Amino acid sequence: MASIYKKAGSLDEALELKVRYGASGVFISGGTDLLVDIRNDSLKSEPGAIIDISDLDEINYIRQEDSQISIGAVTTISDIQKSSIVRNGALILFKACQKCANPLIKNIATLGGNLINASPAADMATPLLALGALVVLKSVSGERVMPLEEFFSGVKRTNHGNNELLTELRFNETQGKRCEFLKMGQRDGTSIAIVSLSLLFDMVEGVLKDDLKLALGSVAPIPLRAYRTEDALRGVEPSLGNIKQAGNILEDEVNPISDVRGSAEYRREMSAVLLQMAFQNLGYGLS
Ligand SMILES: Cc1cc2nc3c(=O)[nH]c(=O)nc-3n(C[C@H](O)[C@H](O)[C@H](O)COP(=O)(O)OP(=O)(O)OC[C@H]3O[C@@H](n4cnc5c(N)ncnc54)[C@H](O)[C@@H]3O)c2cc1C
Repeated sequence: MASIYKKAGSLDEALELKVRYGASGVFISGGTDLLVDIRNDSLKSEPGAIIDISDLDEINYIRQEDSQISIGAVTTISDIQKSSIVRNGALILFKACQKCANPLIKNIATLGGNLINASPAADMATPLLALGALVVLKSVSGERVMPLEEFFSGVKRTNHGNNELLTELRFNETQGKRCEFLKMGQRDGTSIAIVSLSLLFDMVEGVLKDDLKLALGSVAPIPLRAYRTEDALRGVEPSLGNIKQAGNILEDEVNPISDVRGSAEYRREMSAVLLQMAFQNLGYGLS
């Protein structure tokens, strides 16, 4: 059965169309994941209706009010990378955009699509976990807001309801904090992460402050906040010894699989290596 194509003219219309077509209606924004899935026949069933949300200005923005930054779900990775709000207030997200895909893909791939697709390797997930982002979901019944950490429920699964549209990500600015995003792929150009890592921290009197955040991609069924490793790093000097010790905890905390891109053992080891590299790129843990 061929799918019906509907271009939503407003957010309300998109939500109503979703109710009308139920489980057989799927949203499309950039289509860089969905069209590949349709072509590879990897969806449970062929969509009955494709609801295009890519032109909805209502959810295409990057705003800052006081210390809060909000990004609409159909904002492209390119626009996020170009935004001075993001560069000044959420450098870690800017760094992740730089390493995500190639310019052709980034010009159409959206933030919402990246998160809803819920790949453990999704490049937008770990910086947003480190930023403590909230996800805003809307349906005809109203709005829900949940921490991004509670949003991912398994490989390619999230806790969004059938009729819900992801509309926004919001988080507090982190101007002045140290941060690094690292991604290890099979090559320097476009590639899916074998391991990726987002680290965000501040220092006080030579030790790492309590609000340090660490998140990793491609090392667990969902993008992972590494709580135990964070705890080991909080309140200590970022010396090489302390970072190596935290790396040992991280190797135990991650839960990777082996696949065509790398073995579980390699991913474990590389998680600790990336942690050390992240600190060293920022001038810490050199001795
Ligand atoms: C060549 C290539 C290279 C790539 N490289 C990378 C990479 O380096 N890093 C990376 O992380 N990803 C990469 N990707 C994957 C992809 O580009 C991203 O995940 C992208 O951000 C998906 O966004 P989209 O707008 O294209 O989503 P779509 O394909 O339009 O949608 C993806 C899924 O999300 C749903 N959806 C989309 N928007 C919403 C919404 N607002 N609310 C509810 N549901 C929604 C759709 O129904 C669909 O199920 C690559 C893809 C390709 C083809």
